[in-house]
Amino acid sequence: MPLRIVVLTKPVPDPAAAAERLGPDGRLDRAASPSVINGNDEYVLEAALKLVEAHDGEVTLLSMAPPNGIETMRKGLAMGAHRGVLVTDPALAGSDYGSTIAALVAALGQLEYDLVLAGFDTSDGVGGVIGAAVATKLKLPYLSSAAKIEPDPAAGTVRVRRISPTGFDVLEAPMPALIVGTQLLGEPRYPSLKGIMAARSKEVVTKSLADLGLDGMAVGGSATRTKVTNQEKPPARGATQVVRGTAEDGAKAIAELLASRRLI
Ligand SMILES: Cc1cc2nc3c(=O)[nH]c(=O)nc-3n(C[C@H](O)[C@H](O)[C@H](O)COP(=O)(O)OP(=O)(O)OC[C@H]3O[C@@H](n4cnc5c(N)ncnc54)[C@H](O)[C@@H]3O)c2cc1C
Repeated sequence: MPLRIVVLTKPVPDPAAAAERLGPDGRLDRAASPSVINGNDEYVLEAALKLVEAHDGEVTLLSMAPPNGIETMRKGLAMGAHRGVLVTDPALAGSDYGSTIAALVAALGQLEYDLVLAGFDTSDGVGGVIGAAVATKLKLPYLSSAAKIEPDPAAGTVRVRRISPTGFDVLEAPMPALIVGTQLLGEPRYPSLKGIMAARSKEVVTKSLADLGLDGMAVGGSATRTKVTNQEKPPARGATQVVRGTAEDGAKAIAELLASRRLI
């Protein structure tokens, strides 16, 4: 039985780009640097692609982003995803978590899926909250910290090997379910030239707030309940102490340093 997987992929500023990324209002200036797919999302996308290769099926990318999110999505399509859905609307600028969750939930309401996969967190927002919140809103089983994903489409269930403080838990849930994956799922593939060419003609559907039945005054910048009031750079790093010698010398020096600071 084919698997239908939606992967939540967020375009984020390229961490390798040197440009200053905060605007005068303290918010990310997304035009200041090129966007890439959030690193953690590439790991869950890789897992999704392997699953549909093994079980047959299709992978849909879902992003909420400014209109140029389409360009970022092309890389996921080049990796092998089948289509994309981009939620974009001028009224979504300035969205906080509540609006992002509302938009993604509404978009998922218009899609058919057995699994929704989300990354652990993003390199710009670092909230680590969207997956759990979307699952809760949609009343989907929520399986987090996945190191391995094993669906059984015939039985309509999915099994996840979940990282725990003491090792791994094995969780099972009925599908549809939402899974938050980790980097233990495996290294993302590089798009092939064939994949890059094919991505150009893959379908990307754009949805506005009106398409999703959402009110522009209830979500987006006009509905945000948090605001950035200040921004500070982290304090400069202090002097670094280098210990040369054997591993034993190093371990002793580290232990002494930690003890002198009452950390052990
Ligand atoms: C006051 C305020 C204003 C903001 N203004 C803006 C703004 O103008 N523009 C803007 O882009 N952001 C804005 N943000 C940030 C935005 O709210 C967050 O980026 C968003 O809620 C996602 O949070 P996160 O990046 O921490 O995701 P996390 O919870 O860390 O993400 C976990 C996973 O959820 C999925 N996911 C997260 N976000 C998306 C997405 N957008 N599309 C698809 N999948 C996703 C990914 O799989 C990701 O790995 C603002 C935030 C605040 C508090």
